[in-house]
Amino acid sequence: MLALSLYNALSRKKEIFVPINKKQVGLYTCGPTVYNFAHIGNLRTYLFEDFLRRVLEYNNYKVKHIMNITDVGHLTGDMDMGEDKMEKGAQREGKSAWEIAELYTEAFKQDTRRLNILDPSSYHKVTDNIPEQIALISKLEKKGYTYKTKDGIYFDTSKVKNYNKLSHLPLETLREGARVEKNPEKRNPTDFALWKFSPLDSKRQMEWDSPWGVGFPGWHIECSAISLKYLSKNLDIHCGGADHINIHHTNEIAQSESATGKKFFNYWLHGAFLNISGGKKMAKSEDGFLTLNSALIKKGLNPLVYRFAASQVNYRKPMEYGENNLRQAEQGLNKLWEQVAALGSKKGNINSEFQVKFLTAVNDDLNIPKALAVLAAVLKSNLIAADKLATALDFDKVFGFDLKNAASYINSVVKSSDLPASIQKLSQERLIARKNKDWAESDNLRNKIQAAGYLVEDTANGQELKKI
Ligand SMILES: [Zn+2]
Repeated sequence: MLALSLYNALSRKKEIFVPINKKQVGLYTCGPTVYNFAHIGNLRTYLFEDFLRRVLEYNNYKVKHIMNITDVGHLTGDMDMGEDKMEKGAQREGKSAWEIAELYTEAFKQDTRRLNILDPSSYHKVTDNIPEQIALISKLEKKGYTYKTKDGIYFDTSKVKNYNKLSHLPLETLREGARVEKNPEKRNPTDFALWKFSPLDSKRQMEWDSPWGVGFPGWHIECSAISLKYLSKNLDIHCGGADHINIHHTNEIAQSESATGKKFFNYWLHGAFLNISGGKKMAKSEDGFLTLNSALIKKGLNPLVYRFAASQVNYRKPMEYGENNLRQAEQGLNKLWEQVAALGSKKGNINSEFQVKFLTAVNDDLNIPKALAVLAAVLKSNLIAADKLATALDFDKVFGFDLKNAASYINSVVKSSDLPASIQKLSQERLIARKNKDWAESDNLRNKIQAAGYLVEDTANGQELKKI
């Protein structure tokens, strides 16, 4: 058996993965704040976590996967200042905060399922776990880790040894980062809210009684309370986006370990950012942010194209986003589906030599790009078709490209003479635009043809149209 090694942010090294309990691995992934559609940058993180989950299962671990749904308490500023994102979303759309949460939780589940991301074992809403969060804060209060200010109960980070053990940043750097939104009553810039009081002058839609007054939980406490409740015996792996390292995950560790006196999670894994071409990080606050719908579905791209694109980049490396990259991924995935569909449907045997190579790749800190190269080698090899198919389907337990239904994704080329006259005209115009290197016009015509129900592909044989 080839050991699974994972890059652990705590040690900043690849470590052999050893679960606390051999029979079941606990996996906690920080979930979405459901005030809007998911940004495709965030969806990249959920894809990385899905590859991790599938690799664990490929290694025959039973995985208990817990995800929170942040439906209250995540403020627009990272440092416990600003507005509640949920209440802000409600204002924007003229709905209640509860309706907004419901709406975008369902939208999130739909997006992840379209990406063939496996559902967690269970989702847990923050609003369903308020007593657990209050109990955890009380525990911290009894141990002397908290203090009260005008606007809430805060965690005193100066009382924690190794507050920076996850970020590995000098405390001074963490403090500098925290100074952006200064609350004069905070004892240390890095201190964070455990409980925020409702404002005196207005009524919040989401608020609860607590030993300290009416209010709502701070953002970080939810993940500690939910993971300690549902994974108490399996605190193995905790994941999220790389943007969670310095604040959210650092604070989760500080408060959890202070409350329990025990190590929180053993392995901390983070997915790198998605960059738009040019290397700029995409933020949710930017206008016209990209969702699965706007970036793919509306452009006629199958959501699995994004999954395929993400699989080509190591999860710890930034991924470049661009329409051209997606078009290339589309061609790559279509080609893969065509190759697999051509293998027929006869039952064969998994080739163990290739399987070892595949396992070696994915167990090396999820080297999915290398695993894809192993799949390509299988398809090119001189194995019989049935064995190629069995091996490809085995690998697809990790890839999640729905290879077993490959044939259903293939659109066959429509002969030019069989196209409606209007489409023939558009495709002729596109050929001329391409001859003139007028790429904008060529893309514009491609969109028009696509809107009329035909995919356009530029192949070695020239422009080909397929019925969607
Ligand atoms: Zn979290």
